[in-house]
Amino acid sequence: MAEYCIDCWNRLNGTHYTEKDVKTDMDLCEGCGKWKPVVVVIHRRGIRGWLERRYHDLEYYVQRIRGY
Ligand SMILES: [Zn+2]
Repeated sequence: MAEYCIDCWNRLNGTHYTEKDVKTDMDLCEGCGKWKPVVVVIHRRGIRGWLERRYHDLEYYVQRIRGY
């Protein structure tokens, strides 16, 4: 998995995460090439995170029954 700092992550994904929304680890950012805290886990909160998880479950299930 590519590692990106919060600034690059937000730029690439169009999100507005802050240090409080994610778990970071010191690593080399593949976006800006600097040694910075990079995003390792996003703490998805609220209804939107719940819906995204349900959507991924459904997507997985559909792929299973279609035999992909
Ligand atoms: Zn970066």
